Amino acid sequence: MRKAGPGSLTRFLPTSLFYRMSLAIGVVLVVVFGASSYFTYRIQSEQALTATKTQAILLTRGLKNTIKIGMGSGNTESLASIFQTVGSLPGVEKLRVFNEEGKIRYSAKPAEVGHLTDELDYTVYRSPERSTPFQSDVTGHRSFCMVEPIENDAKCHRCHPKEIEVLGVLDVCLSMEDTEKSIASNRLLLLSSTGLALILTSGIIGVLLKRFVSRPVERLVTTMEAVEAGKLDGRVEIRSATELGRLGNSFNEMIRKLSEARDELEKFHHRQLVRADRLASLGEMAAGIAHEIKNPLAGIYGAAQVLVNEFPEGDPKREIVGEMMILLKRLDNTIRDLLNFARFTEPQLTKGNLNDVIEKVLFLVQQTPEGKRARIRREFDPGMPEIEMDQEQVKQVFLNIALNALQARPDVVMISIRTQGDVAAAGDDVKHRARYVMASVSDDGPGIPPDRLGKIFQPFFTTKENGTGLGLSMARKILDLHEGRITAESGPGGGATFTVFLPRVKI
Ligand code: ADP
Repeated sequence: MRKAGPGSLTRFLPTSLFYRMSLAIGVVLVVVFGASSYFTYRIQSEQALTATKTQAILLTRGLKNTIKIGMGSGNTESLASIFQTVGSLPGVEKLRVFNEEGKIRYSAKPAEVGHLTDELDYTVYRSPERSTPFQSDVTGHRSFCMVEPIENDAKCHRCHPKEIEVLGVLDVCLSMEDTEKSIASNRLLLLSSTGLALILTSGIIGVLLKRFVSRPVERLVTTMEAVEAGKLDGRVEIRSATELGRLGNSFNEMIRKLSEARDELEKFHHRQLVRADRLASLGEMAAGIAHEIKNPLAGIYGAAQVLVNEFPEGDPKREIVGEMMILLKRLDNTIRDLLNFARFTEPQLTKGNLNDVIEKVLFLVQQTPEGKRARIRREFDPGMPEIEMDQEQVKQVFLNIALNALQARPDVVMISIRTQGDVAAAGDDVKHRARYVMASVSDDGPGIPPDRLGKIFQPFFTTKENGTGLGLSMARKILDLHEGRITAESGPGGGATFTVFLPRVKI
């Protein structure tokens, strides 16, 4: 069987905090007031009943004594008038004396004399419970009655034979009608005063709740919504020393800090935009200049080549021109990198296998003099799928990474390459594409210090004497165009790892 969860009941409750609290307090008040009124009513009713019962006992016992004294003194006539006087008292419903056979001998209502008494009274008289008050409703409403035998004792033997045990039975009934009426009016009074108290208490609690809880919370919610919508100039106004006041103050402080952070971010963003703009124009300018320099440089290099052959071997001038040629070559490399960087086009996508592309790069690297120092360890995923990429651009990426690894140390370099055909990119921020192919290149060089890690992808950042600082920024640009990514890691023990992610499926 399905269990109802904790939220199943609250689902039906109103969503406003004020209404929920009012409802809860209302239920508690109704229960408390209801229960206390009910018990008060019950106690009052019991007390009224007990009082009537006591009255019945007192009246019966008193009358019995009066009868005995009256009869003892032979003053039996006065008994009839006592009966009538007592019988006419309010609440006295029945006052009579009947004999052993149940025939009425004396009564507050003289017309009853000679008739048989009520069957219930006679039955009670014959039962062992006589002399204790009992309830009767023969008159249509509740009464407390008592039947009390008047025993034949020594004083009575003057007029009554000894053999007769009971001279007569006193039968008294007190009506509960008035008591019941007053209980009913009490109940009405109790109900209306409870209702009034309930309405007043609920009203006062409602006003306090609205003033001290609901309104401050509403103000908080409104300001929070404004903050959520980006308006950071609003503040919550809760002038109270309660927890809500403190919450409001902390919230205001939070908005102030948020606002400051946003301003700072906006300024930073603006600075970045200006910088990017400047870099873009600088890049364009640099590319233009590089283009202009490239051809004259080629001319100078050609001229130097001619010139170098003019001087015999060992001539210092030949050495100077040779040095000039090396410098010209380096200048040419820089200009080539710069032009490559500036002249980026959309990738020309073709299907290819990343393992094969890397293999080609490694072959190229091993042909260079630096490449001879490399010990290469491959851990290629045989299940590498074919993906869409610009293979020339991707080759450039791995060439840069591999050359950097070689330049990381002057002696033998250990380069480990690992590929995987199906991974989720670390810190994946491309939400709609979860799967990538991956290749990581690690070396055992000195590594990259943490403060430098954030800068190495910036254009023109280099720590090398002959570096251009364009290799990694170019790699990042290529991967951006492929909707992939590149990350760099370096541990405290040295060694750098560059990881490249390329999307498995082009969207
Ligand atoms: P360049 O190689 O011309 O300096 P890059 O953009 O390729 O330009 O590299 C930028 C900088 O990143 C390098 O100057 C170097 O400080 C650092 N770097 C790149 N790869 C490595 C590596 N494998 N080990 C240590 N430092 C590296």
